[in-house]
Amino acid sequence: MKWVRQFGGGSAEGRAKDKALLGGKGANLAEMAALGLPVPPGFTITTEVCRHVIEHGAGNYPAELDGEVQQALARIEQLAQAKFGDAEHPLLVSVRSGAPASMPGMMDTILNLGLNDTTVAALARLSGNPRFAWDCYRRFVAMYGEVVLGVVAQNEHDEPPFDRALEDIKAKHRATRDQDLTEAALRDAVTLFKQLVLAHTRAPFPDDVRAQLWGAIGAVFRSWNNPRADVYRRMNGISAAMGTAVNVQAMVFGNLGDDCATGVAFTRNPSTGDAELYGEFLTNAQGEDVVAGIRTPEPIAQLAGKLPAAHAELARVGKLLEDHFRDMQDLEFTIQRGQLYMLQTRNGKRTGKAMVKVAVDLVAEGKITPKEAVRRIDPQKLDEVLHPTIDPKARPQPVAKGLPASPGAAIGRIVFTASAAEEWAQKGESVLLVRTDTSPEDIHGMKAAVGILTARGGMTSHASVVARGMGKCCITACTPLRVDAAKKQAMFVGGGKEMKLREGDTLTLDGNTGEVFAGSAPLVPARIGEELGTLMTWVDQFRRLRVRTNADTPIDARTARAFGAEGIGLCRTEHMFFQPERILAVREMILANDEAGRRAALAKIRPMQRGDFEELFRVMDGLPVTIRLLDPPLHEFLPHTAAEIEEVANDLGKAAQQVAAKVAELTEQNPMLGHRGCRLAITFPEIYEIQAQAIGEAAAHVAAEGIQVHPEIMIPLVMVPEELRRLRELVARALREGLGGAAIPFTIGTMIELPRACVVADRIAEHADFFSFGTNDLTQTTFGLSRDDAGRFLPTYVERGVLPSDPFAVLDQDGVGGLIALGVRGGRHTKPGLKVGICGEHGGEPSSVEFCHRAGFDYVSCSPFRVPIARVAAAKAALAEDPA
Ligand code: ADP
Ligand code: MG
Ligand code: MG
Repeated sequence: MKWVRQFGGGSAEGRAKDKALLGGKGANLAEMAALGLPVPPGFTITTEVCRHVIEHGAGNYPAELDGEVQQALARIEQLAQAKFGDAEHPLLVSVRSGAPASMPGMMDTILNLGLNDTTVAALARLSGNPRFAWDCYRRFVAMYGEVVLGVVAQNEHDEPPFDRALEDIKAKHRATRDQDLTEAALRDAVTLFKQLVLAHTRAPFPDDVRAQLWGAIGAVFRSWNNPRADVYRRMNGISAAMGTAVNVQAMVFGNLGDDCATGVAFTRNPSTGDAELYGEFLTNAQGEDVVAGIRTPEPIAQLAGKLPAAHAELARVGKLLEDHFRDMQDLEFTIQRGQLYMLQTRNGKRTGKAMVKVAVDLVAEGKITPKEAVRRIDPQKLDEVLHPTIDPKARPQPVAKGLPASPGAAIGRIVFTASAAEEWAQKGESVLLVRTDTSPEDIHGMKAAVGILTARGGMTSHASVVARGMGKCCITACTPLRVDAAKKQAMFVGGGKEMKLREGDTLTLDGNTGEVFAGSAPLVPARIGEELGTLMTWVDQFRRLRVRTNADTPIDARTARAFGAEGIGLCRTEHMFFQPERILAVREMILANDEAGRRAALAKIRPMQRGDFEELFRVMDGLPVTIRLLDPPLHEFLPHTAAEIEEVANDLGKAAQQVAAKVAELTEQNPMLGHRGCRLAITFPEIYEIQAQAIGEAAAHVAAEGIQVHPEIMIPLVMVPEELRRLRELVARALREGLGGAAIPFTIGTMIELPRACVVADRIAEHADFFSFGTNDLTQTTFGLSRDDAGRFLPTYVERGVLPSDPFAVLDQDGVGGLIALGVRGGRHTKPGLKVGICGEHGGEPSSVEFCHRAGFDYVSCSPFRVPIARVAAAKAALAEDPA
């Protein structure tokens, strides 16, 4: 067959490696079937069919498909000993989507397909359990009605129509829970659901089982292009051209009674990485019940008590699959009358913490090599591990508690809908999305929120899975929580206490414990734990690139050193100038009318600067410290308010009006392209002179304490070689003066952050000991795109696919990268050993770090918390060239 592949009955026409063709779910079902595991028989319609449909339009299938589906269905019928649509022994199937890349919850599955008024009677007879048969039927009509026929709520505040109808049925039959519904109530539900379908679609619910099947297949292909799938794909960089496969599989039933169950399990704990079978199940239920969070499921450990044989079998299969795939598995299973059936396996999504622990543990267990472990690390995900947590010493009393579904701490203002989360986040607010439950429609809001809190759900419900994938703090099953999204309010109830919440109130979530706190709780910075430490020793063996940090203060420098920084790649001196007691002197300097006035002001600044540098040198003992001389546009220092002008005027002994006039005179149209960077020192050389002296004095001073200092002076925004020639001379002289004869080696280099500098890099290199690419400004000047204003339209560019990503976050390798390559080549043409680094924000972004590796850089420099991320990215870049 060409378009269809079968699996089950101990064999399969495909393997796990065939994900592109069979989708992830189909490929792994085939692999499990081939391994002889208990998989209900089925077949996969390949992604080629989806691509065919994308090309030829919905419903236009390849001519052979119908025949192939018939043939594959016949094989299932044979294996399952039942017939599709049969009045005696009806076969029921599920229709499941499955794309090559995992897209949890994005596409809709239909269960119990093949039921109609005739087959339901047969199912009732065969099972001896009419209630079960009608339970399947009402589920099927609702699922099919929603997914295929589009009977859904018109806006996000409304309850889905079938849920609502079911509530009515429950009220009518005095049932509080789904499982309390009697056969009669379920029959009622089916009738009501069908009426709903008729009213919404003006057509009766399809009785013909083949029509049902093709309707479902068409819906899966359609859903490939629905907006929420689109959002997920864009967020995860998945191509829309891949298409999805469709899996049709014989049903097994977890809702036949109390010896039946359905559940999801991980072979290790996906939050912590601990080696334990972990997950949840529900007895007498069907699969989507666990994921949808309608009933609160039980932890998997309790399955051992209830269905011990099935539990043991699950543990055995889990171990077998983990060994087979050599990675933590995420399993979906159903137990029918005590017998375990496997419905899905895949590499489990995990938190950053679990990612590290599982990788390190698998090495310890001899299942993978350290290289493999490093290759598996997603550097971006390490970010979570490196984030602050709630200060254990100042932990407030929680106001509520739920399940710790995804770790980390989050502080934010609460909103109750995904759209509100998006709106508030766009205004720059940190928001927490608080919902009764989340569904795939909420993805855009979850993306916008810093944390998620839901009243329902479990560890494997939609919110949990998606939040863990996004690395966002999430608490689910917070049972005291009541949400009224329409009224924009919520409440914590229980324990005799009650707390009212309104939109905009601040809460703190602790995703490690599941605790919720009122207001904002104090946080403490993260540390490198034991497993991460082990991983990092491997990382450091494999990488060639050095990793430094951008740090302006001793605190940042200390953090970065603890995270493994091998020096400071960028210390911005201006940040030191902004402290309240200094800004006045800086303003004096800027507003002075002559050199004498500037020198007088600088004389006040010099000892303070010296002190800053001394502290930094002490912290970075033995490591290089690159100090950039004054860079920002002067306007950043100018007094703006009347009070500030008054204060400066007083200090200068001048009239406020005079100062105001001077401020007006200094104001620039385009300050980012104005009087800044080394241009300041070409016009006012004394600025760099004093800074260099202070650096020299500081170096000599701490060296006398026995500290090893390696100062590297960096001159910013050079556009012509002559700037650097002059300033190098001036700085070297001042620095020697400051050193006062102390034998401390130093280097003087430049930041390359203008396209012109890249082009004439060979001549700039004549005066430079090193280049550090300032890719923030270089991106700005290459694109002609203001860093400060691009936010207005850049997101639209990315959303509409005009740009692949924000070039200020992810280095534009073609354009900016092209200039960098030119600069490196020019610089090393003049000085073959020229040291080259990067100090823009890109220095901590994994794909940009890989670029730097390939471009032959010596080091990257990034913010302290990103140092471990850059180390891993550097190792992965090196391993990418290593075939072993
Ligand atoms: P998703 O991709 O959203 O996880 P699935 O296709 O895996 O959707 O289906 C969701 C759940 O439906 C499964 O975890 C399983 O419990 C149930 N399910 C799917 N197919 C079958 C089947 N053939 N028999 C019993 N349950 C099934
Ligand atoms: Mg699934
Ligand atoms: Mg710059």
